[in-house]
Amino acid sequence: MPLWWDGSEPLWVTLQKLGKKVFMYYWPGCEVEILSVRPSFCEKYVYNPSEKNLTDSIENALNVIRSGQAGMTAIYYEKIDVEGHHFGPDSPQVRTAVQQLDLAIQTLNRKIKEKNMVNQLNIILFSDHGMTKIKWMEKVIELDQYINMSSIAKMMDRGPVVSLWPQDNMYQEVHNMRVYGKQEIPDRFHFKGGRFVPPLTLVAEPGWFIAQNKAMLPYWQNDTGEPSAWQNGWHGYDNEFLDMRGFFLASGPDFKRNVRAAPIRVVDVYNVMCWTLGVKPLPNNGSWSRVEYFLNGSEGPSQPMTLCCLGLLGLLLALWN
Ligand SMILES: [Zn+2]
Repeated sequence: MPLWWDGSEPLWVTLQKLGKKVFMYYWPGCEVEILSVRPSFCEKYVYNPSEKNLTDSIENALNVIRSGQAGMTAIYYEKIDVEGHHFGPDSPQVRTAVQQLDLAIQTLNRKIKEKNMVNQLNIILFSDHGMTKIKWMEKVIELDQYINMSSIAKMMDRGPVVSLWPQDNMYQEVHNMRVYGKQEIPDRFHFKGGRFVPPLTLVAEPGWFIAQNKAMLPYWQNDTGEPSAWQNGWHGYDNEFLDMRGFFLASGPDFKRNVRAAPIRVVDVYNVMCWTLGVKPLPNNGSWSRVEYFLNGSEGPSQPMTLCCLGLLGLLLALWN
């Protein structure tokens, strides 16, 4: 749907337009034509990638960058998010998924050394959100207890954030969640100026889950055939809530070494990526002042013309614990 996809320009589209090739692995959206552009290579997103999917994509990404076939590669690894939703962020399943990722990153580091790419390759690892434990079925906000659902023209999603298009603009206080009219949405969400913002945005307090009612929620079928909790972890709560924090790690020639940076915002990552690729960022919500001090040469006036300094980007969805 061009209305949806063509609303903004992802970095890979900018790079392709500039003649720099991008190879993407399991990245949601890479299979779509955006502003008439596709990445040079796209391995379609999978919900539950295997360890082999991850290690193969790392190997391929390194090879295409080294051979000059790609100017940037991006890998998305969903496993930690999936296990976190299902079993909760503190579960042994999440720990195992993080250990698998850790092993894959160790392999990546070894290969970078073997291939003599240490001084040529910028690597950015980050998550786009954290995760918190939820009390499934104990902390459900059932909207149909507060409002007449037939007066709602449209309801989108369930969980920490729900969008409502009511027929009238009446609404009331509901415990354990905030109700925002368009203009009341906090600026720190970088949301209220969007094209698809509903008249009412509901945001649950941490640990709570908004739904029309409990009966409409699905269950996982576990091995015994008994219904068990569908979800034990979730994200999407207010970004001031510490559990929502992700992580950001970077190394390579464009990054100062051994710097422990103050927290950055997820909207800042784009500027960092553009810097390492020598591309002028499009207008965005990131703050250069939050990131420039950990970049090499950011005080100088000119961009380095090093096309060898290419980004390998892993987007990792998890609490890093
Ligand atoms: Zn998720």
